[in-house]
Amino acid sequence: MKISMRPSRLLLVATLLLPAFAFAKEKADLVVTGATVVTMDAQRRVIEDGAVAVRGDAILAVGPRAEIEAGYDAGRTIDAHGSIVMPGLINGHAHAAMSLFRGLADDLALDDWLRKYIFPAEARNVTEEFVAWGTRLSLLEMLRGGITTYADMYYFEDAVARVTKEAGMRGVLGETILDFPAPDNKMLAQAFTYTQDYLNRWKGDPLITPAVAPHSIYTCSEKTLEDSAALGRRNGAPILIHIAEAPFELEQSRAKHGLTPVAYLERIGLLGPDVVGAHCIWVDQADISTLTHFGVGCVHNPSSNMKTAAGLMPVVEMLAAGEAIGLATDGAASNNNQDLFEEMDLAAKLQKFARRDPRALPAEQVVEMATITGARALHLEKQIGSLEPGKKADLILVDTRAPHATPMYNVYSQLVYALKASDVRTVVVAGKIVMEERRMLTLDEKEILAKAQEYKKKIEASLAAPTAN
Ligand SMILES: [Zn+2]
Repeated sequence: MKISMRPSRLLLVATLLLPAFAFAKEKADLVVTGATVVTMDAQRRVIEDGAVAVRGDAILAVGPRAEIEAGYDAGRTIDAHGSIVMPGLINGHAHAAMSLFRGLADDLALDDWLRKYIFPAEARNVTEEFVAWGTRLSLLEMLRGGITTYADMYYFEDAVARVTKEAGMRGVLGETILDFPAPDNKMLAQAFTYTQDYLNRWKGDPLITPAVAPHSIYTCSEKTLEDSAALGRRNGAPILIHIAEAPFELEQSRAKHGLTPVAYLERIGLLGPDVVGAHCIWVDQADISTLTHFGVGCVHNPSSNMKTAAGLMPVVEMLAAGEAIGLATDGAASNNNQDLFEEMDLAAKLQKFARRDPRALPAEQVVEMATITGARALHLEKQIGSLEPGKKADLILVDTRAPHATPMYNVYSQLVYALKASDVRTVVVAGKIVMEERRMLTLDEKEILAKAQEYKKKIEASLAAPTAN
């Protein structure tokens, strides 16, 4: 039997099918459209009336609105008119759970603040549950302020990872190791076992990068530092550490080792392209060359450094040397918030003021520190930090219609000097909306705030009680 179709009918079928093929759009799960898109890509493209298409956890395309709308069929569309759409901000150094100590002891020298207040308060209060609630409080604050990735150094880091994952946020989360009893591990050997288990549990997670965090050269012996680095390297995990934060650290290092903190860390073999150093304030030109040579990411914490009078990070010299410098809030106990918009503003102004040169650190470079250069500092630049096809879909919508944001001539100036964390409308991490028009979708805001109030009472009572030891 022969099946045939008359030529006229064939033509009709072809004509009917043609438009479907000609206009077949690629499927996208989410299209964010109509915004000023600040890509932070290599060309630093800023696209007026632009759009971003997302599928799964990754960016499919970034371009003019007409092009993206014509090319992609969106499962979900977010109208972003009146907003900047940009990469989610990267907070390169925090102690998230310490937000429960916000404002507990202020206006003190760093070593006094740590040894007389923070370490005792931690010894009496920090449990796994405390860490979970304190971290949730920080995640709430950070997400509401447009931070989509943060690096953390604290205790019970497994709980930090768990609540971070629940909140749908990205984290490089380091279990803190130091030579005195910590809230989670009373003995150093326990701390190493805990950290190994922690690394095993989270290795390969799409949102969580587990890390090892030897606290600093003044709280860790040479052996502890070496063992921490070895543990990180055996497991392919980043190493997070405070480097050259305070004048006393430099003095002690010179007296004990005859070396600057950076030279000492080089001598013991800790430096490498897997290291993220917080602060890096007391560094000379040779130290800067060393940090750059080893590919160490450095993270600037302007609020914390100004508040504890730790000193001025030589950001300008370090950027000129090619150093990857991120931006961060540090813990809310030394800041006292986790607002990266404020850090951008302060980072720019601190360099200008200290150097008496308004050209010292321009707004665009500061936005880079909070996004793409910050990603390099955390060694995550292949995944995050810019809006480009193939990268993770971590993006934020920042409203530009408020009086303090109108008019807008230069988008980088606006972000650094005018806009606020509270201008962030919507936050997407790995393609998932976690805050929509300022409504949190992954965290119970009311419950977290109530718990924080409860903890305040407990902490106050614990400090009023006579010392246990
Ligand atoms: Zn810190």
